[in-house]
Amino acid sequence: MKYYDKLIFELSKPGRTGYSLPEVPGQARNNDVSSFQPKSRNPILWRESPLDLPEVSEVDVVRHYTNLSQMNFGVDTGFYPLGSCTMKYNPKINEEIAGMPAFTGLHPLQPTSTVKGALEVYAGMDKALAAITGMKHFTFLPCAGAHGELTGLMLMREYHMSRGDMARTKVIVPDSAHGTNPASAAVCGLDIVVVKSKEDGLVDVEALRPLLGPDVAGIMLTNPNTLGLFERDIKEIAALVHACGGLLYYDGANMNPLLGVVRPGDMGFDIMHLNLHKTFSTPHGGGGPGSGPVGVADKVVPFLHIPHVSGFHGNFGIILRAYAYILMLGREHIKMAGKLATLGANYIKESLKDCYKLPIPTVCKHEFVFDGLLEPNGVSTLDVAKRLLDYGFHAPTIYFPLLFHQAIMIEPTETESLETLDAFIAVMRKIAEEAATDPEMLHAAPHNTPIGRPDETTAARQPVLKYE
Ligand SMILES: *Cc1c(COP(=O)(O)O)cnc(C)c1O
Repeated sequence: MKYYDKLIFELSKPGRTGYSLPEVPGQARNNDVSSFQPKSRNPILWRESPLDLPEVSEVDVVRHYTNLSQMNFGVDTGFYPLGSCTMKYNPKINEEIAGMPAFTGLHPLQPTSTVKGALEVYAGMDKALAAITGMKHFTFLPCAGAHGELTGLMLMREYHMSRGDMARTKVIVPDSAHGTNPASAAVCGLDIVVVKSKEDGLVDVEALRPLLGPDVAGIMLTNPNTLGLFERDIKEIAALVHACGGLLYYDGANMNPLLGVVRPGDMGFDIMHLNLHKTFSTPHGGGGPGSGPVGVADKVVPFLHIPHVSGFHGNFGIILRAYAYILMLGREHIKMAGKLATLGANYIKESLKDCYKLPIPTVCKHEFVFDGLLEPNGVSTLDVAKRLLDYGFHAPTIYFPLLFHQAIMIEPTETESLETLDAFIAVMRKIAEEAATDPEMLHAAPHNTPIGRPDETTAARQPVLKYE
C-alpha cells in the first residue's frame, strides 16, 4: 500500500490545519465549539462534540483528492468498450456550452417568459431527434432509458384504453432483451411474454406469430439487438404486430449505428426512447445523470404528457450537451458516427475470433459478443475482464446478454482511433496467451489496481462509505 492510499482520516494530526484565520473575539476558532455562544441553541440541532473532521494541511488535501481522482476510470482516461453502454467520448465543446453562465444561471422557478432561450433548445432538440428517428414528437420528461421505457409503456397503455381496448395486458420481449425491458413492463402492470431468438441471434418470426392476439399491447425491441445484430425481419414483425392491434416500442439504447442511416419510425416503431447519455455523447456512469426522451409516432402524439419537460427544466445540462453534439456533426456527418463504430466493432471481432469464441459469426453493428476464450484452460470471462484492468483498459460488459454463459460484449465507439483498437486487440491476444501459460496468474488478476476483487454484491448493496 502506498502512503497516499491511506484514508484522509488516517493522515489526520490534531491541530493541523490548511488555513489560518485571525482570531475574532467570541467566535469559534478552528473546530472548537465550546467557545461559541449563539443567542439561542436549538437542542436538536446543537452538536455535543466537535465535528470529527480530518485535520490535515492543504497539500495533504490536494494530494488526497488528486490521488482519488486517479483511482477512477473514465472515457477521458482510457478505452472503455463497455457493450450496450455506448461509452462515447464527450467532446469538450459540449462542456463549454453546458457551462455557459446564461444556462447555468437559470433559476428553476424563473417565469417561463424569461427562459425562452432554454425552451428554444428543447424545441430544437425535439426537431432534431424527430428528424433522426422518424418520430413525430419527443417528451423530455424521462431522466434515463429505463424511465423512458416506463413512460413509453404507459403511453402504449393509454393509447389502447382510449380506444376502449382494455384486454391488452401482454408485452412481448425477446429472450435477448436488456433486463430493463421486462422490468419496466412489470412496473407498468403488464404481463411479459418472451419470444425466442433463432440460432442466428435474431427474433424467431415463426415463434412470434402464435403469441400475437387481441390481448397483446405491443412488443419491445432494440434494433440492432443486444447481440449487435440488425433484426432484418423488422418490417414483417411490424406488420404482424400492427395487424393484431399492438404497438411497437423501440429501445433506442442501440441507436448509435443507425444514426443518419435508418430510422425507427420507418421500420414501423410507434414509441421509442433515446439514451442521450449513450448515443449523444453526454457523459454517464455510476448511476447518472441521464436523459431518456421518448418519441412517438403521429397516432400516439395526443397521449404525450404536458409539459414535455420535467420539473425545473429537466436534466438540462444533458440536453445541452446532446444538442451541441448533434449540431456539431449536422445531418451530413452524423451518419459517420454509426458507420465508424460499426467498422471498429467488426475490426475487433475479426481480429480476435481465432482466440475468443464467436458464437454468431455474422457481420455485426456497433457491438458484438464473444463467449469466453476459444481454449479457456480454466480461465473465465471474469478473469479476462479483471486482467484487462492491469493493462489500462476498462473491461467490456460481461455475462450479458444471458444467451451465453461466458459472454464478453465489446463496443468500441466511433471516437476511438485505429491505434487504440490495435492496442486493445494486442492486449486481448496477450491475455489469451497468458491463459495458456499461466492461468493461475489470471485467476488472481487484477494485480495493479487499488482494489482487486471485491464481493460485487456486497460492494454494490452495502458499500462502506464512511469512516468509523
Ligand atoms: C442502457 C440500456 C437500457 C437502460 O437505459 P438507462 O439509461 O441505463 O436506464 C435499456 N436497454 C438497453 C439495450 C440498454 O443498453
